[in-house]
Amino acid sequence: MKTIAVLGSTGSIGTQTLEVAREQKDIRIAALAAGRNIKILEEQIREFHPRMAAVWDEAAAEKLKISVRDMDVKIVSGMEGLLEISTLPEVEILVTAIVGMIGIRPTIAAIQAGKHIALANKETLVTAGHIIMPLAKKCGVQILPVDSEHSAIFQSLNGENPARIAKLLITASGGPFRGRTREELAGVRVEDALKHPNWSMGQKITIDSATLVNKGLEVMEARWLFGVDLDQIQVVVQPQSVIHSMVEFTDGAVIAQLGTPDMKLPIQYALFYPDRRFLGGARLDFARLAKITFEEPDTDVFLGLPLAYRAAREGGSMPTVFNAANERAVSKFLRREIGFTDIYKIITECMDAHQTRQNPSVEEILETEQETYELIESRW
Ligand code: NDP
Ligand code: MG
Repeated sequence: MKTIAVLGSTGSIGTQTLEVAREQKDIRIAALAAGRNIKILEEQIREFHPRMAAVWDEAAAEKLKISVRDMDVKIVSGMEGLLEISTLPEVEILVTAIVGMIGIRPTIAAIQAGKHIALANKETLVTAGHIIMPLAKKCGVQILPVDSEHSAIFQSLNGENPARIAKLLITASGGPFRGRTREELAGVRVEDALKHPNWSMGQKITIDSATLVNKGLEVMEARWLFGVDLDQIQVVVQPQSVIHSMVEFTDGAVIAQLGTPDMKLPIQYALFYPDRRFLGGARLDFARLAKITFEEPDTDVFLGLPLAYRAAREGGSMPTVFNAANERAVSKFLRREIGFTDIYKIITECMDAHQTRQNPSVEEILETEQETYELIESRW
């Protein structure tokens, strides 16, 4: 029996994690956490019987307490609640499927309490990778990637000597606007940006896929997870999303992980690593697949990628600015307050205005996030 806790249980990754738990009978859910969606959270509590559940929003937590008073579950709220859930003694693996930098402190607390991390929340590594990775090593816990590209690399590295990595090849679908010009990109609508060609995901990451900011965040995530230089990471557009990523080794061999796009595979792999369990669903049919094609990403149009490389090369607090500016810009785009390419403008302006702090502490990372939000509010 594996005992896990899920932060962000009502979201895209969270609900798919619970689907895996439903199918694999030997996973026990000790705790769940959500932002404010208490309707779905209550259904999850009734099905999985966690002993604790956290709701970020206090008023929503109070409501939930009343509606589940017939159940043996403790309801907690706010950051205190998230921290309590992340450090429950019986939890072996914490699934971090929250969106945003809110995931940093619970992840650190869980590592310090000796929990393995099934990491979906990429913002944590992007902004605090320099704190998280050494801490995980010191505490002897595993960071198990859930992001499909990183899981593919992790699977490709299984049994290999990491010192023999020549480069990591991160694949990208190219998003719904692949092939468009800059002018065409300026006028795209929210509905179009939310139509990802191959994956069904939460709203924020779907927009990030359309801007290629997601790929940029993944480059930064990969750098921390696998301890390689930025120059050893190459992004390759592979529109069919069949190859989930690859590793080239020093002898020229390339090892890849392929499959139909289904996030349950990387989630399940992280939960049972190094074992593989049966997972239902469509299999790749190579005879019908016919072809897998490759392109270079268009970095003149999709500025998410070059901006991410710039932030990553600068290092320190700059990836936090990139991430926080993008987070706010995406919210504004989803509320139809700004156009699609304004997302790039906001990120660029915030990065231009920022004085980088090297080796920032968690407090400095959160301060940088706040300063970035304030700058955006004052200008846009
Ligand atoms: P969703 O928006 O679908 O879900 C986010 C989850 O986080 C929800 O359960 C939400 O609760 C919860 N949440 C938000 N704010 C808080 C808070 N302050 N306290 C507690 N819970 C909170 O996101 P995704 O599942 O798409 O993404 C989650 C993370 O995984 C992101 O970092 C994303 O980049 C990453 N990821 C996602 C992939 C995907 O396929 N979706 C693929 C690879 C990575 P509520 O419903 O109540 O708002
Ligand atoms: Mg991904």
